[in-house]
Amino acid sequence: MIHRYDTVIIGAGLAGMRAAIEARVSGSCCVLTKVFPTRSHSGAAQGGIAASLGNAGEDDWPTHMFDTVKGSDYLADQDAVEILVKEAPLTIIDLEHMGVPFSRTEEGLIAQRSFGGHTKQRACYAADLTGHVILHTLYEQCLKHAIKFYPEYLVLSLVLADGVCRGVVAMDILTGDIHGFFGRAVVFATGGYGRAFKITSNAHASSGDGLSIIYRAGLPLEDMECVQFHPTGFYPSGILVTEGARGEGAYILNDQGERFMKRYAPDRMELAPRDVTARAIQTEIDQGRGIGGGAYVHLDLRHLGEEKIRKRLPQILDLAMRFTAVDALKAPIPIQPTAHYSMGGIPTDIRGRVIGDAQGTVVPGLYACGECACVSVHGANRLGCNSLLEAVVYGARAGKVVCEDLPGIEWSDWPKGAVEGVQGEVRALVEREGNESLAAIRDELQESMQKNCGIFRSRGPLQEQLLIIGKLQDRFSRARLSDKGKRCNTELVEILELRSLLDFTELIVRGALAREESRGAHYRTDYPKRDDAHWLKHSLARKGPEGPVFDYKPVRITRYQPKERKY
Ligand SMILES: Cc1cc2nc3c(=O)[nH]c(=O)nc-3n(C[C@H](O)[C@H](O)[C@H](O)COP(=O)(O)OP(=O)(O)OC[C@H]3O[C@@H](n4cnc5c(N)ncnc54)[C@H](O)[C@@H]3O)c2cc1C
Repeated sequence: MIHRYDTVIIGAGLAGMRAAIEARVSGSCCVLTKVFPTRSHSGAAQGGIAASLGNAGEDDWPTHMFDTVKGSDYLADQDAVEILVKEAPLTIIDLEHMGVPFSRTEEGLIAQRSFGGHTKQRACYAADLTGHVILHTLYEQCLKHAIKFYPEYLVLSLVLADGVCRGVVAMDILTGDIHGFFGRAVVFATGGYGRAFKITSNAHASSGDGLSIIYRAGLPLEDMECVQFHPTGFYPSGILVTEGARGEGAYILNDQGERFMKRYAPDRMELAPRDVTARAIQTEIDQGRGIGGGAYVHLDLRHLGEEKIRKRLPQILDLAMRFTAVDALKAPIPIQPTAHYSMGGIPTDIRGRVIGDAQGTVVPGLYACGECACVSVHGANRLGCNSLLEAVVYGARAGKVVCEDLPGIEWSDWPKGAVEGVQGEVRALVEREGNESLAAIRDELQESMQKNCGIFRSRGPLQEQLLIIGKLQDRFSRARLSDKGKRCNTELVEILELRSLLDFTELIVRGALAREESRGAHYRTDYPKRDDAHWLKHSLARKGPEGPVFDYKPVRITRYQPKERKY
């Protein structure tokens, strides 16, 4: 079955839904999502969304911009950052007018808290449920505008004809039927890929499908080596403790009860950016100063007092009890770094249009926004609270650009065989005989990525990881499904997700091997310094006949020249 919409959006997180609210103005619009819209990972965001409202002391967009560029270790494209921070204050007011119930100051203004790497108090929040309330508000807005959703549709491939995007092919998970979605504009908003790692804060659905679909279509992916590890995941699950906890004043302590951040970032202490803080924690653990010599340190909230904890961090209190059996009012919480965010992704211009090469050639009809996209506002290290902001600002922007572009895009013919091709692929996967277990391959991939391509990287382990991925890709070709059914085959969904993981983890590792420097979250112990002379550039990886091929493009620097990054 072929459906026809002017705009087809993939992903119902903040980015996809915000894009839909704009795009629906100039024609029919649908949103495909593999999970129910309000279960998108955006709903797990706790801490806040950044904007220089200045409600907690002076602030302005140039300061927000400088903090972001410095945080990115100068790899962010500064024209893109300028748009992000300039549009931030009105974006928050816009969200507030849509109905987002932000927490308030005594005077009734939107409350703002501190966050890592931001020199001003600029994180707007709703207790520690910020993403949840924004996601629900945007969903209500979409329902109000009667936007058509296809929940539990798994998009499997991009339809390109003569270099122009025509739509996507997706599987209805409930029935197992394969559908074509024919659109004049297609917007990817498929989120991140934390599931490539064993310890992650991300939802199970964050498996980077969108990136793999783009890669398999022959288009490039940008800066895939730049993966963020958040300093504070619960031990051992990796579920997130928001940076808002440190924003409110929580301490990080090692086995000796020492606030060790004073040795790593004396000025910012616990509020140093994530790359710096995660490396500090991992170093303490590696050098035997984890609690009892173990693989975790402590996050201590107790001195904040019961009232503040209950009011500002209620979810953390609840999660600490559920996942670590610790009452955070009475004892410190065991924490470890956790794979959290993908700075790299589908390269776009500042209008959200996907680009197909290092020269910036636009792929007609194709757009991307949110965490799956790389515009690049976060460079090599994202600051907390800038991601919800990016999803909303660039989601809206992509939707508006679609409206501008649509009058110039003609309907053409739906390429013959696009749906049938995917039907055949899926059938072959289901019917395949073999002796390999999908769960075993996935576990080994996640464990080895954590070990060999984690916070600290170096040539030997990265090369070993490439060999491991090669072997796992080979074993994947013999992975067998025990469920051969069509309806609601969750094992089939899992194997398709695993196929994505196996595609793009190779790009993370190859990109990390190639980048012989340390910048932001990408830290090479064998190249511990940043090397602007050779590496102040974005990487682009595309599929070649014999594996990934790399190209590079310059960083756009407008206001702030690179200098040494200290905290
Ligand atoms: C625990 C946690 C806490 C966070 N806290 C904060 C915070 O406080 N502040 C901040 O700024 N950022 C935070 N972040 C980051 C931020 O939440 C995300 O980067 C952002 O919400 C991503 O939004 P998105 O719309 O791009 O993607 P998502 O919200 O991840 O949505 C992706 C969508 O794509 C769909 N999808 C994916 N693949 C397919 C497919 N193959 N077929 C169909 N649909 C598909 C999914 O169903 C989903 O609807 C946090 C992240 C995590 C994990």
